[in-house]
Amino acid sequence: MMPFIDLKTQYKHIKPKIMKRIETVLEHGQYILGPEVEELERELAAFVGCEYAITMSNGTDALMVPMMAMGIGPGDEVITSAFSFFATAEMISLVGATPVFVDIDPATYTIDVAQIEKYITPKTKAIVPVSLYGQTADMDALSALAKKHNLYLIEDGAQSFGATYKGRKSCNLSHVAATSFFPAKPLGCYGDGGAIFTNDSTLAKAMKEVRNQGQEKRYYHTRIGMNGRLDTLQCAILLEKLAIFPEEIQKRERIAQIYLKHLASKMKVMTVPKDQTCVWAQFTMEVDNRDQFQKLMQERGIPTSVHYPLPMNKQPVYQAEFGHLIFEHTDNAAARVVSIPMHPYLTDLEAETIAKTVLECVGQTK
Ligand SMILES: *Cc1c(COP(=O)(O)O)cnc(C)c1O
Repeated sequence: MMPFIDLKTQYKHIKPKIMKRIETVLEHGQYILGPEVEELERELAAFVGCEYAITMSNGTDALMVPMMAMGIGPGDEVITSAFSFFATAEMISLVGATPVFVDIDPATYTIDVAQIEKYITPKTKAIVPVSLYGQTADMDALSALAKKHNLYLIEDGAQSFGATYKGRKSCNLSHVAATSFFPAKPLGCYGDGGAIFTNDSTLAKAMKEVRNQGQEKRYYHTRIGMNGRLDTLQCAILLEKLAIFPEEIQKRERIAQIYLKHLASKMKVMTVPKDQTCVWAQFTMEVDNRDQFQKLMQERGIPTSVHYPLPMNKQPVYQAEFGHLIFEHTDNAAARVVSIPMHPYLTDLEAETIAKTVLECVGQTK
């Protein structure tokens, strides 16, 4: 069985650089907020073109910290997509606010901006669009909506770091954005990691304090925060991974184009709008008999994965409150989507073989 995501080949390519970085940290011994943390934050901010990048313990905390710094909490409503990884809604609930789910655009699987306005109430404080599968939602339309109703716009860019929207980078398209460096994300570290991005200096200061136990200075706590720091070691590793990331994005695009060439005319695959680029966190399509399709693919040595089999509102913990809600396109996607291997170290031949196998297996499930 080939791997769904190949992390070992990348490691082999950059092993001496990674080892040197790790050794440097072990020698200076500043494991918490060491020099590599600020170095990476500068590089990350430069990469997306924003003023402030704040590294975080993981992508989940990176979603929570902005909401804490903004004072979003009990009595507030936060609008988000019904179709995402659980963390997006989970953090809205964890700060004490109420998630308000909106259906997706079936072509892109991102939040359907045209439907949002009817969910806005006097309690609404923020919109959290999810840049699912590696591309952003319609961020200009979302910005206009947020501005009109005086709402915060928080991009969940956990899957889209490196993507572009009208020439601008994901994570620099909203008031604040969160990303994840979970190993399987387009840019991943060797454990949990994440980052927050903003151009707002006041918010950046507040978020940095929240990340570090609400400290304005050492042992002087001005707010309730958390321990949301990213280890110096992970930052050191990410510096080397970020250096090769632009090249990896191109390789991902190359693999995606091979998949599209074979599959786009034969089945429903995700659509990337003309003025956007995607980093292909997943390459996702829809099939009729998903269980059977996955089994057939597995028998041919090709792993597949489902992101995500259950809409957010139908998760057991939300069932009583939101389970009755029906989101046509979310429900359809949850029942039909499946992703195939996607990483920069697939060869063209492997990608061709995977695509052809998909068509073969789709044929056999009819
Ligand atoms: C991965 C992911 C997260 C959470 O990131 P972690 O680093 O795993 O905490 C949040 N939102 C989305 C859309 C994700 O894919």
